[in-house]
Amino acid sequence: MSACKRSQEETATTATTTNFKFVSTDSVNTKDNSTASKRPRLMTISLNAIVNDELRMEVPLIPVTTGTITEKKKAGKLMQLLPPMPPSLSHLKRIRCNEQGELEIIIAEKKGEDEPCKCEFPGLESSSLKTSLVAGKPPITRDQFHHAGKFWPCNFHPDSSLEKLLTPYCGFNEEEISVIQRNVNQVLETEKQCCLIYDPHEDSKEVLVCTLGYDRDIHPLKHAVMVAVEEMGKLQLGENVNVKKMEEEEYRQMQILRSSVVLKSSSKRIRNEPRDYLCTGLDVYLSHEPCIMCSMALLHSRVKRIFFIHPSPQVGGLMSVTKLHCLPRVNHRFKVFQVSVSS
Ligand SMILES: [Zn+2]
Repeated sequence: MSACKRSQEETATTATTTNFKFVSTDSVNTKDNSTASKRPRLMTISLNAIVNDELRMEVPLIPVTTGTITEKKKAGKLMQLLPPMPPSLSHLKRIRCNEQGELEIIIAEKKGEDEPCKCEFPGLESSSLKTSLVAGKPPITRDQFHHAGKFWPCNFHPDSSLEKLLTPYCGFNEEEISVIQRNVNQVLETEKQCCLIYDPHEDSKEVLVCTLGYDRDIHPLKHAVMVAVEEMGKLQLGENVNVKKMEEEEYRQMQILRSSVVLKSSSKRIRNEPRDYLCTGLDVYLSHEPCIMCSMALLHSRVKRIFFIHPSPQVGGLMSVTKLHCLPRVNHRFKVFQVSVSS
């Protein structure tokens, strides 16, 4: 039995997370962990897709006036006589069959709590008029659809990719989970703030860059993500340091500093298409939720997915302070996952 399947049986999952146990003996592409990397390590991860808060909430309810149709064959005629449903309620079915087998119809949206329920239409039992609660917005997820349907039936057009994201497996297959586990393990091996950029394309499947942030007193803005994105630029252009313009000692010092934060930089040429951005189609693995500056750098470089382990409550730009990828006006969207790890 595979580690993945075994874990599925052993570990309880919720509607939004999944857990996988993983034994890793993979070598790690970093310089200061050769001993640790040889130790077999049992690791359980769970994934949580970071999505817009709206998707995790139940749809808000609003009051409408409803009534019971006295003769079912007059339902069509009654529909013609009633004013059309306002666009804001177009996600609702106009008529429903209640538990008693009666047909109920939405007359109109109720503007105020105290507004009396009264109207006269042929085929409508005036004494049956009442206030009913219905979904005030169209349901986006299947869970919202089921919840809203308990009050009044709605129209629903499921988004299959979103539904996958909200399943316990977040839409990943067993092979993809194995890759995630391996990369998360590499990030953890550094035991520092780390950024790893991985190319998930079929003809690559390799770590392109793995970086740490500079110490704050050396450079306060060169966080691990900023160094990694900079390194990706160098990979695309070829090494662009003009040694001739630098003093030898200055260059040597720069290389020492650089080698302490750039743990891996692929020797292969990045095969980006001419129109691609620096990280088009690439996955990013982070020890910590990136700050807003780094989140924006990842957005500008057009990454595909971000996996981070530890939240950053004070500065995090993907979950804690804001959810940059969920803001309405950003011009690129990536998927974000928080990875919880336990040994
Ligand atoms: Zn940062």
